Amino acid sequence: MNILVAGAGHGGLVAAALLARAGHSVTVYERGERASLGHDWHDTMMPAAFDFCGIPRPAGLFTPYIKARHRNPAKTVTLVTDPAPVKNVSYVDRKALIAVLLRFAEENGAALVFGTEVLSPVCDETGVKGALVADKDGVKEIKADLVIDAAGIDSPLRRNLPQRFGVTREIAARDTYFVRRAYYSAKEGRAPSRPYTIWFFHSGAPGLDWLIRRENCADVLVGGIGGLEPAAADAAYRDLAAEYSFIGESIERGDTAIRHIPLRRTLGLFVADGYAAVGDAAAMTEPMNGSGITLSMKAGKILADTVIAGGEKGAAAENLWRYEYAYQKHLGEGFLTDDVLKGMLGSLTPADIDYLFETGVLTAREMLKDRSPVGVSYVLNKTRVFGRPSLFPAICRAAVRLSKLSALKRDMPRFWDRAAVFAWADRYESL
Ligand SMILES: Cc1cc2nc3c(=O)[nH]c(=O)nc-3n(C[C@H](O)[C@H](O)[C@H](O)COP(=O)(O)OP(=O)(O)OC[C@H]3O[C@@H](n4cnc5c(N)ncnc54)[C@H](O)[C@@H]3O)c2cc1C
Repeated sequence: MNILVAGAGHGGLVAAALLARAGHSVTVYERGERASLGHDWHDTMMPAAFDFCGIPRPAGLFTPYIKARHRNPAKTVTLVTDPAPVKNVSYVDRKALIAVLLRFAEENGAALVFGTEVLSPVCDETGVKGALVADKDGVKEIKADLVIDAAGIDSPLRRNLPQRFGVTREIAARDTYFVRRAYYSAKEGRAPSRPYTIWFFHSGAPGLDWLIRRENCADVLVGGIGGLEPAAADAAYRDLAAEYSFIGESIERGDTAIRHIPLRRTLGLFVADGYAAVGDAAAMTEPMNGSGITLSMKAGKILADTVIAGGEKGAAAENLWRYEYAYQKHLGEGFLTDDVLKGMLGSLTPADIDYLFETGVLTAREMLKDRSPVGVSYVLNKTRVFGRPSLFPAICRAAVRLSKLSALKRDMPRFWDRAAVFAWADRYESL
């Protein structure tokens, strides 16, 4: 098969490598230049994603990750978690990570074409047949039996698919985390006692900001759910710098661009005849924090395995649906509850969050996602939520959504049946 991969994202590169190794002709079209790829900072991922994908773990790629402490908007409560390094999660330098995946794809026979932007899909009545791409020489049409969309949250492929294919095309602003991230120089001055602090609703609107004290620099992320104005990001930075005078002014890594991360359950339908999305293009992130590296890599492996197992029918919707089904059952479904909780969080006010912190409804246990058995006092603390009537509508909405999840999971069609899949995807999207 001729396979076109749009974007050198994590999931796209893993799929490209494994499909090329299986004998398919795979070309990755990436709009950036090689040296520009990968964010210019460190992020967290599960190193076990490498084992899952059958990629040797490179020595020296990972460094220990220590959990954050959490603060409320009024800064009256700090929830402190165990400062021991977390076992299954590590920091990774994003540029080093993408370099490893690019090499892995090349070593396995995938062709990488940089400086080439994928503009839109080329379709006929039945499905996707290729893509229009633009490079320095102009626009051309590339034919493909399968187009893998790894072009991220704003993918022009997904957005320009004909509606009749049923794929979810838009990711709403309320389901998007707008973030600005930079490593600022460090100077003599007051620094936080713990390396990593997260602020809820720091800018007075739904969102999370963080400060990580790194060697010789201060890693500052400012994030808003649904939107982030540059002036608000500047103000959040100034507020942190006023409290912690060790934060300098010059930017050592990262920049002041505002980027987008999907913050929602995975899309309801992300495959069609000749088309499969992977990674942020399909909203494969954790809805509470936007982590998507591990999920994208694993999805790339599941996609490649499914295409290979499908043989001549590998690119047909009926086969690619098996990929979507497997992804949802192994990974995506596990985040549906978080998606509901994120929706609830997004509808709260800073005063609501202060109440939840100050009355002990939110504790370090929730931040850790500790699912160990709970005692009576723990449960009684949760009933304090009833002391704030303004929280009731959000809680009721979340309760209704939670009550629908089991049936939604149960009813996901096991095999491709266009009408049944479309009906289920509509239900899933309107949850
Ligand atoms: C500030 C920040 C912090 C984050 N922290 C974490 C974290 O700690 N842990 C975590 O797991 N995730 C984190 N994420 C999310 C993570 O970056 C994404 O989930 C992950 O990168 C998704 O990978 P992907 O495979 O979808 O491809 P992406 O990383 O989205 O890459 C898409 C690629 O496609 C290319 N491209 C886009 N459009 C086109 C086009 N039209 N034509 C050709 N090429 C195109 C882009 O240049 C890019 O190389 C963070 C994101 C940000 C912005």
